[in-house]
Amino acid sequence: MKEFRRLQIKLTPQRLAILNFLRGNKSHPSAEDIYKAVLKHYPTMSFATVYNTLEALKNKQRVKELKIDSGKKRYDPDTTKHHHILCIKCKKILDLHTDFKLDVPEELTHGFELLGNSIEFYGLCRKCRKRH
Ligand SMILES: [Zn+2]
Ligand SMILES: [Zn+2]
Repeated sequence: MKEFRRLQIKLTPQRLAILNFLRGNKSHPSAEDIYKAVLKHYPTMSFATVYNTLEALKNKQRVKELKIDSGKKRYDPDTTKHHHILCIKCKKILDLHTDFKLDVPEELTHGFELLGNSIEFYGLCRKCRKRH
């Protein structure tokens, strides 16, 4: 509860339900996934509330918006540095916690000071490989 207050966003029971659903969630849900899950307990939940809460959390850097799934935006409450791997069949996204030592020669950085990177991998998960 305390950690939510620190977010400085207006907390309603609906918003709390969204925050609780996201806490520790490793499934990288889409806004629709979150809406469907929370709707079960909060029949008055609206999709707009889910979307607005996600926007607020994103602006506070409490949730990361992932674009690895071209079909829809996915959200990650784990804002620590990590990479992702997407299954192109079932759209499952898993975390990849490894630090890639990527060296980009200065003449290729277009004058940028590089601060980080995010690498997106795609492939077939274990389940989908079996059905392939
Ligand atoms: Zn899969
Ligand atoms: Zn992640």
